[in-house]
Amino acid sequence: MNITTDLNYIRKMGTKRENENWQFRTFLKKLDMPSRDIDAIVHRINEEVTSKIDCTECANCCKEIYMSMDQAEIVDFADGLNISAEQLITQYLVKNKEEPSKMKIAELPCPFLKNNKCTNYNHRPKDCRSYPHLHKKDFIFRLFGVISNYGRCPIVFNVYEQLKKELWQ
Ligand code: SF4
Repeated sequence: MNITTDLNYIRKMGTKRENENWQFRTFLKKLDMPSRDIDAIVHRINEEVTSKIDCTECANCCKEIYMSMDQAEIVDFADGLNISAEQLITQYLVKNKEEPSKMKIAELPCPFLKNNKCTNYNHRPKDCRSYPHLHKKDFIFRLFGVISNYGRCPIVFNVYEQLKKELWQ
């Protein structure tokens, strides 16, 4: 499998192939295949793509996505920084309107990213650990997020393109 990691190219394709990506979503939704079988294909492709991409060469999610934390994660994240949860909230977080039980990073790039690496890696929240979420179940029900991440995450870009090749083209 050929892997593309050029973020400029991936961004351009995110715009250029937007219609195509939605059409492929429609195709996947109508595909006569159990969701768990589609998951198995996605997980296999994801493992191969992930093994060929070095996230520290990219770190684009930390530059373009406002990661969220719940209260327990705020306490743990602050602990890792040796500051209080209140200080973390005041200096770095804002309310997350989409998920009112959580707060999110106030500014991008993430202020805890240094030289493309997380300076609080062992205390990072679930959102960061799980991104770009392609190892999870029910891929078919999370395609909106997949398409919105296609133009900014090389892993998502390559997995979605390989999936098109295997199932569609
Ligand atoms: S998860 Fe995607 S966007 Fe984030 S660093 Fe890895 S390849 Fe880049």
